[in-house]
Amino acid sequence: MIKNSKFDIQNSVYDVVVIGGGPAGLMAASIAAKYGAKVLLLEKNDVMGKKLLLTGGGRCNLTNADPNVRNFVSKFGKKGDFLFSPLSVFGTDDTVRFFEKLGIKTKTEPGFRVFPESDNALDVLGVLTKLAKENGVEFRLGVSVKHINPDVSVGAPTKASEKNRNIKSVILEDGIEIKAKNFILATGGKSHPETGSTGDGFKWLKEIGHKVIDSNPSLVPIKLREQWIAELAGITLENVGVSIWVLKKETDKSEWKKVLGLPAPGVARQAGKKGKILFTHVGLSGPTILNMSKTIGDLLKEKKEVKVAIDFFPGIGLDVMHERMIKLFEKNPKKKIKNLLLPEVPEKIYLKILDIMGMDGEWFANEVKRAERIAIVEMLKMFKLTADELLGYDKAIVSSGGVDLNEVDFKEFKSKLYDNLFLVGDILDFDRSSGGYSLQLCWTSGYVAGKSASKYL
Ligand SMILES: Cc1cc2nc3c(=O)[nH]c(=O)nc-3n(C[C@H](O)[C@H](O)[C@H](O)COP(=O)(O)OP(=O)(O)OC[C@H]3O[C@@H](n4cnc5c(N)ncnc54)[C@H](O)[C@@H]3O)c2cc1C
Repeated sequence: MIKNSKFDIQNSVYDVVVIGGGPAGLMAASIAAKYGAKVLLLEKNDVMGKKLLLTGGGRCNLTNADPNVRNFVSKFGKKGDFLFSPLSVFGTDDTVRFFEKLGIKTKTEPGFRVFPESDNALDVLGVLTKLAKENGVEFRLGVSVKHINPDVSVGAPTKASEKNRNIKSVILEDGIEIKAKNFILATGGKSHPETGSTGDGFKWLKEIGHKVIDSNPSLVPIKLREQWIAELAGITLENVGVSIWVLKKETDKSEWKKVLGLPAPGVARQAGKKGKILFTHVGLSGPTILNMSKTIGDLLKEKKEVKVAIDFFPGIGLDVMHERMIKLFEKNPKKKIKNLLLPEVPEKIYLKILDIMGMDGEWFANEVKRAERIAIVEMLKMFKLTADELLGYDKAIVSSGGVDLNEVDFKEFKSKLYDNLFLVGDILDFDRSSGGYSLQLCWTSGYVAGKSASKYL
């Protein structure tokens, strides 16, 4: 367990002060100390890495081992191009080697998701804090930084092009001032604020002249309008198709109903993905939904009615599905339809579909009309649900927004406005997919910034 170091922080001058003891801050502090810097890490919680412990449902999806670096950076959208250079210094292979060297054996799951073999995020946090301690990082836990203090003799810059400004010190809540030659800001974003990530860094950066893009919850579960969805809570489906639809004309609500289950000409497909989803008490979650949440959120902001459609048989065409159902019904004429289950569809969902369509599960298969059987198939291929809203920061994996990337030098993760200020992890304005990309950003930025900061002593 990490305890506060016994030293006089007020009267020491550090080479590097790191603010924030999450994955990015811990990595940056360890590496700066390893390369010879006198490092102090400040964390407002009484423990490090609260959010890290939540990652991957407590299992910690450490990184994404996609061997194609282009694919990897594409998960950060256009802004991913900024990452080519830093990833060549500390990439996903380096992350796996780094943790294996610290005793964390890893395994790779579908979608190149890398986890510790122990499935325990606590192990990851354990080796990171141990390393920081061994490298000589000094810690101060339970102290909240209130401000970062630019050197007033030069004044705060107003443009990214104005260089040679410095941060002089940080001021703690109790007024104590801590001076350093370099500062690494690792205060995270705004998701799950109970872990300490409350956007403090965004506020300070704005105050000292940085452009900070406004935040929104991102990679976030969605709430649906259908309240009966609670009956399906807990169901996980590993490989379904998910597509997003809107009306071409918002006034033509009847278009949704024109063809049962299937899209009518008056609706437009906005996005589609295949993968894992999870039914929650209020809606949908799971990696595929999280990765589509930004599209859904943007459409909802435009005041559009948004349908999320699930295809339970993404690998099978509609015609093949009809044939399969015909065979199933013809083979079992005297079976009650509630018992005509398909292995791909959980019973609760199938019964819900019958219920929505007003069909009685007690009917025998040979009592079902052709049109009703067709309708079942259409529902299984396109189970339409209505997005109500994205859940908030308290449920989001990350927040969008952050410091404008044009104001960051990615060779060092250094501010272009302040010569001794480094910016790492979730504080940066990168959109990204779920699947280990966020933590890799922490490892890469933490490593590169930590090493760079140790050069300017
Ligand atoms: C539920 C959940 C699951 C996730 N799963 C994954 C996953 O499996 N894989 C993945 O890649 N990513 C995952 N993420 C995202 C990942 O956790 C974040 O990207 C990562 O934690 C960001 O690290 P960070 O160091 O930048 O910031 P944070 O982890 O947010 O750490 C910031 C630290 O700064 C401290 N701090 C803030 N303000 C102050 C202040 N004023 N003074 C002192 N200290 C301060 C905070 O207390 C906090 O400890 C998940 C996130 C959540 C919420």
